[in-house]
Amino acid sequence: MTQVVKAVEAGLQGAAEARPVVVRLKIRTSSHLLTQDHAALHTAFSLAAQGTRAEGAKLEVIPVSGEAWCPHCRAETLVNAADNVCGTCGGPIVWAQAGPEVMVHEVVVEE
Ligand SMILES: [Zn+2]
Repeated sequence: MTQVVKAVEAGLQGAAEARPVVVRLKIRTSSHLLTQDHAALHTAFSLAAQGTRAEGAKLEVIPVSGEAWCPHCRAETLVNAADNVCGTCGGPIVWAQAGPEVMVHEVVVEE
């Protein structure tokens, strides 16, 4: 979460008066972060944001399904749950290298 706060602060550079009110995160459904309680995510964010410009911002989480590859079907497959199996054959899948598991999607600011 510290990295998330840093990303938010970096995005605010050049907007000295702007205060973030909502931070929207995209988290891959394959991420361990989504297996946690959402309340735990919010707490972790508040703690990391303390004393930074992101302090007091509301956290919103958008789960995104990850792109995966099934070696058995020899096809790309979309996986919506964190169970790491192919939706077609039920076999184990390989996660595509689709970027970081957590991304700052949008920061809503108040001027
Ligand atoms: Zn398959």
